[in-house]
Formats: sequence, C-alpha cells, structure tokens
Amino acid sequence: MKNNSSKLILIVVGTILLPIVLYVIFEISSISEGEEMIDKVYTEQLDAIIFSVNQYSTDNMEGVLSKIVNHLDSTLQLKGDPTFLYFSNFKLLFFQDDDSQKGNYFLVKEIDISETEIIELQDSLFNEVDMQKSRKQLLRYLDGGYRKIEPKGTIVIGGEKLQVVHAVLQIEERKIYFTGLLSINGFANDVLAPRLQQIAQEDLVISLTALSDGEIVYQTDTLDKTTIFKKRMWLFPDMEVGITSKKQTVKELVDERMTKNLVAAGILITLLISGFILIIRNFKREMILVQTKSDFVSNVSHELRTPLSLISMFAETLFLDRVKSQEKRKEYEEIILKETNRLTNIVNKILNFSQIEANKRTYHPTVIDLNEVLKELLHDYSFHIQNNGFTFSQSLEDQLPKTLLDKEALYEALVNLTDNAIKYSEDKKHLNFLTGHRDDKVFVEVTDQGIGIKPDKIHQIFDKFYRVTDGNVQTTRGAGLGLALVHHIVEAHEGDIEVESKFGEGSTFRLVFKAMEDVENTHS
Ligand code: ATP
Ligand code: MG
Repeated sequence: MKNNSSKLILIVVGTILLPIVLYVIFEISSISEGEEMIDKVYTEQLDAIIFSVNQYSTDNMEGVLSKIVNHLDSTLQLKGDPTFLYFSNFKLLFFQDDDSQKGNYFLVKEIDISETEIIELQDSLFNEVDMQKSRKQLLRYLDGGYRKIEPKGTIVIGGEKLQVVHAVLQIEERKIYFTGLLSINGFANDVLAPRLQQIAQEDLVISLTALSDGEIVYQTDTLDKTTIFKKRMWLFPDMEVGITSKKQTVKELVDERMTKNLVAAGILITLLISGFILIIRNFKREMILVQTKSDFVSNVSHELRTPLSLISMFAETLFLDRVKSQEKRKEYEEIILKETNRLTNIVNKILNFSQIEANKRTYHPTVIDLNEVLKELLHDYSFHIQNNGFTFSQSLEDQLPKTLLDKEALYEALVNLTDNAIKYSEDKKHLNFLTGHRDDKVFVEVTDQGIGIKPDKIHQIFDKFYRVTDGNVQTTRGAGLGLALVHHIVEAHEGDIEVESKFGEGSTFRLVFKAMEDVENTHS
C-alpha cells in the first residue's frame, strides 16, 4: 500500500505538479523580463527629454556665440548694435587674443562690481592653470571643426549666482579666448521656461534645482511627488533637471502589475499544492478503506462460518440420536442456542450497519431514563456476563435527569460496549456500569479492566471495519462494526463519546447526552 501511494505521489508530481510549477516560474520570469523592458524604454524616453533640454540650452548659447563672433572687431571691441546681448542673460564678457595676449571685457548690464574688480577677475580667470588647460582642449576641438562651450564653476556677484562659461572663438585667422558670466536664474526663466512648459504639457512636471543649496530655480508646475528621473545639465553642472509624472508612472504601473501577477501565481501554486495534498490524503484513506474492507470480508466470513459449522455439527449429532446422556444433550442444545444467538447478532449488526451506510436508519426518540435502560440491559445480560466468567458492579445515580433518546438504539449501543468490554478483557474479569450527570448532561458508562487501548489508536477505533491489530485481535472475533454503530447512534442524538483507556489496565466508554431540561429548551 505504501508503494502504491508513493507511486501515485511520483505520478502526480511528475505529470501535473512539476509542469505547472515550471510553467508558472517561466511565466513569472517572462513577465519580469517584459516589465524590465517597458521600464527601460520609459527611462530612455525620460533621458531623451533631458537630452533635448540640454541640446536646446547649448543651441541657444551657440547662437549667442555666433552673433558675438560677427560683432567682434580686431581690437576685441563689439561693433555695431549689440542689443542681442541684452536678451542673452550674459552679464559680463571677457576676450583675450591667443597671439597678442591682449585682453578686453564688455559689461552687458550694470552689475555690482567695480572696474578694478573686473580687471582682477579677468586676470585670475585668464591665468588660472585649470582654465589654461581646458583652453588647450577647446583649441583642439576648434581645429577639428567643433566649437565647444565649456562650463567652469559659478561665482556670485551682487547676490546673483553666475555660471562661468568659456569657449574659443575663431575670428578670421585669430583665435580668441572667450569667458562669459551668465545669469543662471535669468537663463532658466527666460530661455528654458517656455521650452520646459512645452515639453511638460499635462503629463509631466519638469523642475530645475540648484545642487549646491537645493533651491528650486524653476518648476513647470507644483507637485508633491517624488521625482522619477533627474540629471545634471551640461551647461550648468550645478543645476539638475528633474522629471515628475502627474499621473501614475509606467514604473508604478509595472510594479503594480508585477505584484498582482506574483500574488496570483502564489495563490495558484498554493491551491495546486493544497489540491495535491488533498488528493494524496484521499487516496491514502481509500487505500486504507480497501484494506479494511477486505479484512472485514474475511472477518465476517470467519464469524459466520464458526457458528454455522458448530450448529450443523451438534444438530446432526442430536438428529442422529448419538447422544445418550440427557446432560450431554442439554449441553449440545445450549451450544446450538448460543451460536444461533451469535449468528443473529452478527447478521443484525451487519444489517444495521448497511442501513446506516445507506442513510436509511431512522430513530424514534422518546423521553427515557438512562437508569431504566441500563437496568434492563443488566437484567437481560447478567447471565451472559457471568457465564463468561465476569463479575460486575453498578452505580446508578438517583434522580437522574431524563433525556430524549431512541431507547432501542441506546440499548444496542450499550450491548456493543458490554460486548467489547467482555471481549477485550483477559485475567481481570470485572465490569462496572455507571450513570450520572454533570451540568446539563447525563451520561452512562461501561468500564472494564481489560487490555486497554494505546493512545494513538483511540481516534481510529470508531472507524468502520477497524480493529486494533495488536492485542488479542487474533483470538477474539469481530467485524470492526460495533463502535462505528455506537458512534453513529450517539452522533444522531447530538451526544458525545468519551474514552478513557490505559493500555494494559482497562477502558471506560462514556456516552454523554443532553439532559431533559436542556433538551426541552432546545426543542421548544
Ligand atoms: P464487532 O464489534 O463488529 O464485533 P470489534 O469489536 O472488533 O467487532 P468494534 O467494537 O468496532 O469492533 O471495536 C473496534 C476495535 O476497538 C476492537 O477491534 C478493539 O481492538 C478495540 N476495542 C473496542 N473496545 C475495546 C475495549 N473495551 N478494550 C480494548 N479495546 C477495545
Ligand atoms: Mg465490538
């Protein structure tokens, strides 16, 4: 039987559970792959937005530089009409000729700086080692045909933060070093703001934040949500472009879907495993039932064959008039009677049981006194008990509350308990019968000093066909139906069975029912 169930476990695991679990794992991994992909595409889109903002700033600056080149004359003065500079957000410009090292500056707007301070600033800017190094690089770029604009830190003049940018300008054959001080706030608000508004539209909020002090320089809208993507600006390394989504972001959607999918997969696997456990349990139960049924058939055939062969043997002896003494004749007749009774009992038990199995057994409860039923049983069975070598005692409670029970059924239950108490006793042949009541319950119990039941077997003895395999099962006869009948009868009357048993010392079976007052209450 063990072999069969482990085979079934292997088959179910191999053919159903394993493929499904593998399929679910595959599904989950492909979901997460798909979601990673969506996330990547979304991040790339946000990156492209920031790229376009940067590109726009550089293009704008390029435009200004081209105009400066057109307006710069050989003495490094701005000729013609330099009004365009007023809209460029530059405050101060410095020029230096690469060959003659001659320098000049141009103050676009009045700022809070004296002329000597300007000269000092120019000197420091042009002589700074770092600046010279990066100029060489810019020259190389220019030779390659690309005019790069490079940011070089910030300075504060008159309370306003200015971005230092520098580039190399080609004016005819000459190379002029250019350094400009650009108002960060002005550029953000005049140049970038309209562009950012256009990009952000209804879905996004784009912000410009100064990294040094965390101040928000510009924001397309107010929104109290965490920024989903941010990057430094090329031209303004101290400034960060941040993007926030007004609606649920793709990442949030992806995460939500992912969690939902994982939960669903988890539930599916749990259901599968519980289903699998149920199948195995049922199967095991079925296997046990098949086994006990086959035991039952052999038990019953044995039970029937023994009395039948005894009856036929002694009847034949009597019939052939082979028994001479009257005593012997009496003894044989007694055996025939006893075995006929036993046969009747077995057949009755089986019939009752099949009625229960077919759900056809009906009960007719009447108001009864447990004491009366027990007295009747002892009256009918005292001979049988004593004939088997047993003594018995009884302790019946006076004024026991009455109860509502099918009398015949209760009698049958008590007969089964008494029968067991006799069958499963060995040397100590004494039985005790007791009635009593506690709270709103009445009970009747049968106690023996027999072989007892091991604790791990107690919950099984009420199963149909079940017989404890150790102990005296080989020497006692039985079909394993008695306690199943008792259980059914008690359950049908909403009662309880309590078993107290010590292996090797004896057992007490107690049937507990609702007392009459309570019965009346629940029935009214
Ligand atoms: P049947 O009652 O159908 O003739 P049975 O006596 O074997 O057969 P049950 O009355 O259902 O079947 O009892 C089930 C098993 O419980 C018994 O085989 C026995 O092992 C154990 N058992 C029942 N009553 C006692 C008891 N008083 N003492 C020890 N073991 C018991
Ligand atoms: Mg029995």
